[in-house]
Amino acid sequence: VPYTRVRNSMTPKLDAIDMDFCIEMEKHGIVCVPIPTNESLWNSATNRFRSIVSQKHAAQAAGIGTIGRHSLLITPEYGSMVWLGAVLSEHEFEPDPLLAPICNNCNLCVDVCPINALSESELKQLDCWNHAFGDDEEQKTWKISCHKCRDICPYNLGSKNKL
Ligand code: SF4
Ligand code: SF4
Repeated sequence: VPYTRVRNSMTPKLDAIDMDFCIEMEKHGIVCVPIPTNESLWNSATNRFRSIVSQKHAAQAAGIGTIGRHSLLITPEYGSMVWLGAVLSEHEFEPDPLLAPICNNCNLCVDVCPINALSESELKQLDCWNHAFGDDEEQKTWKISCHKCRDICPYNLGSKNKL
């Protein structure tokens, strides 16, 4: 529940930062469009909402971090304890240099996953979503009930097993 509450508090802030960024850019004659931080487009193939761009891949291309074995972004500062916001623009911004891969393939995330969603090279995303996200019938609430692969990564700031 605390994880879900933090996520639900953080994502509107990211949307607000995106919007502020777009407004500032507009003052310089640069048009940007904010990307909703949470699910923004219905995907009928998966019956789920998802973002219209992969923010993890965009972040990796922007030199913010690299995608780890758990399919999450790992940054040098915070490990995988990050949530991303994004804007789209036709303006060419100067990117930071790409980072070398951070994940050390320790496989802690693979081993901790209760449904083996990481057992193959590609995350079994639907299996993960079905297990980790959804309504809690007992508590009548929507929550994220699994984030074990994120928690265990040794690159997380404040992690018990931080490298
Ligand atoms: S737990 Fe280990 S294998 Fe998984 S993403 Fe983190 S460093 Fe990579
Ligand atoms: S969130 Fe949970 S179910 Fe999904 S990949 Fe991570 S450990 Fe597995």
